Amino acid sequence: MASSTIENYVKQLYLEGQRTSNQKIPMGRLAKIMKVTPGTATSMVKALADSELVIYEPREGARLTRGGKQLALHVLRRHRLVELFLVKTLALDWSEVHEEAENLEHVISDKVLEKIDKLLDYPCVDPHGDPIPTSKGNITTKQYENLSDCRLHQKVKISRIVDQDPTFLQFLEREGLTPNVKLTLQSRDDYADATTLITHATSNTITLGLSTAKKILVEPL
Ligand SMILES: [Zn+2]
Repeated sequence: MASSTIENYVKQLYLEGQRTSNQKIPMGRLAKIMKVTPGTATSMVKALADSELVIYEPREGARLTRGGKQLALHVLRRHRLVELFLVKTLALDWSEVHEEAENLEHVISDKVLEKIDKLLDYPCVDPHGDPIPTSKGNITTKQYENLSDCRLHQKVKISRIVDQDPTFLQFLEREGLTPNVKLTLQSRDDYADATTLITHATSNTITLGLSTAKKILVEPL
């Protein structure tokens, strides 16, 4: 198995475990994420189990071993540092760096990675607000509230965007809804499926659907 394939599987197992707060990922779910058949996902996972990166329980799913988790965090470190480097140093748009990092995360050397880390002054988050694991494999994941659940009239700051679809990110950029932007939720209407918010710096009033607001994580100011 190519090392990039191994890295992609452990990375997705880790991310899905974070998303669902369940470390054991069913094969059907993994197959969907990896865009392969369940049979392919299962044979890949069995190979990962042979390498002691996952523990596979038939009919239940796969979860990462300690070694598997360390590898996943190392891949995420490469991915997220590369994204930040592409935005900050090479001035690429934040909507296009995810695709670039998907490739570069498998080929960049530790030596170059540590230089990038130093150049960027040891950052904690990538351009989307995702936490960057340390070189020792530690990660600090803060629990944020999503914008659709936050209290009305409370001042908040955008901390993280949980959807990296390029057109979605371009939409947020156009509306001025990027990390660190401060805003207040003005209204929420479950029946209309809409929230209205006002940004502090520009006083823009913006209406979002609740499903969009859920992808924007915020913290109180
Ligand atoms: Zn990314």
